Amino acid sequence: MTRLLIVGPQGSGKGTQGTRIAEAFGILTVSTGDVFRGAVSAGTELGQQVKAIIEAGDLVPDELTSAVVRDRLSQQDAADGFLLDGYPRNVAQVMHLDEFLEGRDEQLDAVIELDVPRDVSISRISLRAAEQGRSDDTEEVIANRLAIYERETAPILDVYRTRGIVDRIDGVGSLDEITDRIIAALEARGLNRAAAA
Ligand code: AMP
Repeated sequence: MTRLLIVGPQGSGKGTQGTRIAEAFGILTVSTGDVFRGAVSAGTELGQQVKAIIEAGDLVPDELTSAVVRDRLSQQDAADGFLLDGYPRNVAQVMHLDEFLEGRDEQLDAVIELDVPRDVSISRISLRAAEQGRSDDTEEVIANRLAIYERETAPILDVYRTRGIVDRIDGVGSLDEITDRIIAALEARGLNRAAAA
């Protein structure tokens, strides 16, 4: 049972690497960004609540976000472990997650920090904007999201660093190189990949 969190600025490749790592460890990925985008395209009540917030690149309210995550982590397919991508995003959400996990006698095993210079993440986001046309990948919204990352999300790493669970990974290189670096760091913690299916 492995419980992981991947953290990095927009354009750090955390979505791609998160999926690869979750696959390698045979665990579920929970991406709050994907959950919210899915709800918006499905036009659910949640989607209607968050649409304008996401389009502005602002953060969805903490209580709502934490409720969505608690719900998702309570489902059966999260029983063998999970990788969180995009949550927690500020210190208040860290406290919500702590409370939830403590209630289950659980804790995060490791936090993967993907370290990417600002110019690299900006050029990756522009590339994705051209490829995927995400409505929150416009220049103005990107600047807002990066500012929120630096102001609200980066401080969560300090909280997890005091617990000794952060692995800072160089996020520049080929996809395979970066995946290998992350797996090596997790294995050095004694976390083991799933046996090949
Ligand atoms: P992402 O794909 O992780 O960049 O998330 C896309 C958007 O979803 C963000 O810009 C926020 O508007 C919203 N979002 C995702 N995760 C969270 C979170 N943990 N707390 C608040 N808002 C979030």
